Amino acid sequence: MTRSPIITVSRGRFSPTAAQVLERVRAAGRASRDEIATATGLSVATVGRTAALLIERGVLRERPDLARTGVTGRPGIPLEIDPDRHVTIGVHVGRRIATVALGDLAGRILASRTVCRPSGADPDLEQLSRVAATLLGTLPGRNPLTAGLVAPWRDLGLLPGPQGALLHELTGLPVRTGDHISAIAAAEFWHRHRRRPERAAGGLTLYVYARDTVGWSVAVDRGAQTDVTRAASLTHFPTGSAVPCPCGRTGCLAASIDVLDPAERARTLGAAAGTVRDMLSPDRVVLVGQAFTGDPRLLDVVVAAYDAHTALERPVPVSFTRFGSDIQAISACTVALGPVLDDPLGCVTTDDACHRPSA
Ligand SMILES: [Zn+2]
Repeated sequence: MTRSPIITVSRGRFSPTAAQVLERVRAAGRASRDEIATATGLSVATVGRTAALLIERGVLRERPDLARTGVTGRPGIPLEIDPDRHVTIGVHVGRRIATVALGDLAGRILASRTVCRPSGADPDLEQLSRVAATLLGTLPGRNPLTAGLVAPWRDLGLLPGPQGALLHELTGLPVRTGDHISAIAAAEFWHRHRRRPERAAGGLTLYVYARDTVGWSVAVDRGAQTDVTRAASLTHFPTGSAVPCPCGRTGCLAASIDVLDPAERARTLGAAAGTVRDMLSPDRVVLVGQAFTGDPRLLDVVVAAYDAHTALERPVPVSFTRFGSDIQAISACTVALGPVLDDPLGCVTTDDACHRPSA
């Protein structure tokens, strides 16, 4: 079995200075140089020099219109991510549909297109690169920096490494790959913590995903950084139902939720989430995907089944996240941002040494 690639979702004091400054701005939405210095422990002079470089390269921009007087009496000009100069390319390969998207450096989707693909065939990355080039043509003046390639690799019987290398060859861009469920967990972590940084609590966060596929992934806070590691399938997780599965057994989770009525499906998924919680003992549980969240009236049923099936005494918070139909685009663009967030000045050079995919 192949190891799914690790996706780093927060970086700390051991990352490059520019990564720390960018991380702080990203987490807060906007931050002044003083606020960045206080939050990171970097000197105001270092933050000032680094911010100047990031502004010059179109990664950050100043918002003097939102200036407030800072603690030192100087006006604190907020910095925010510059959403206008650069884009990332996100490619998501599903079983029947592939999605190509362009995202800005704040992780928002600017454009996307879906392409049907023959079930069972290898992804046509040449075609998908051409779609990316077409989308780039609709956003003139923007510079593509990196690409992210996301798929349920095991379900497709593919290895992410060779596919990522091929996409790199086609686009000339640094490419990062991610597993479908890990990438969705990373996107969820990222977007939630940007809205509510106070919930960026440490420890282990368990994401259970159910929609086109069922599985789980975890975000692990390692002190200086948080990584989404491990993604496991729950396709053949035993539920005790009598539903036959193509694998020859009965009661496998994916086959069961396909045919159960909505209330029974909610109970089955909640029970599975409770059992997975007991195996991993996380500090919080996030339930993701339309099979969990599709019917708001059944959220209580999911939670009741979860509570009934978790045997660990210490209660942990359970929450739901609703992603819309753009989850493929968002997850692929989240993965694509990795190299920028790791080393923004290394990734965005002054001469913009990145190449557009050839049309
Ligand atoms: Zn099965």
